[in-house]
Amino acid sequence: MSRIPGKETTEDYFALDVRQLKREGLIDAEEMPEELAGVAEIEWISSGFGAGEGYALRPWFRCPQEGCGKRVAILYGRPDTDEEPGWACRGCLDLCYPVELEDRVARLQRKSAKARARLGPRPDLAKPKRMRHETFVRLGREYLEIQIELSEALHERTMGMLETMEKERIAFDI
Ligand SMILES: [Zn+2]
Repeated sequence: MSRIPGKETTEDYFALDVRQLKREGLIDAEEMPEELAGVAEIEWISSGFGAGEGYALRPWFRCPQEGCGKRVAILYGRPDTDEEPGWACRGCLDLCYPVELEDRVARLQRKSAKARARLGPRPDLAKPKRMRHETFVRLGREYLEIQIELSEALHERTMGMLETMEKERIAFDI
């Protein structure tokens, strides 16, 4: 795929989010679809958070562009053409993130701190006294959801930084 020069951001494209497909029940780990017809392959990988139902596996797209195959949460397509959208990852399309990504990370960090505080000082050892069990479980799930979202936002931000560094040919050692 030819690279579209600079300036375009993810907002210029239609975004297909594999996490949203899962939330809406369009894909299911139980059925293990290996492909979303006409779009891309789907892979189910351990999220690394918790072991409860629904947390063990999370879906990823494999970017369908030749020579890429990167594991991504979101694929982008052109909304304004009659052609097949030709789904591709952000890297293949050379898209930038809008500045809002930084805001999203900050917002999720605040949300995470609040959710964590509600769980008491040591939720790994005990629930706060006088809190109902169901409430504790619900708050725990909410906290994990936020953590997953936050870790993904941080990952996206890091990948964006790495791409910028590569583009700008800034030397870095990891
Ligand atoms: Zn790609």
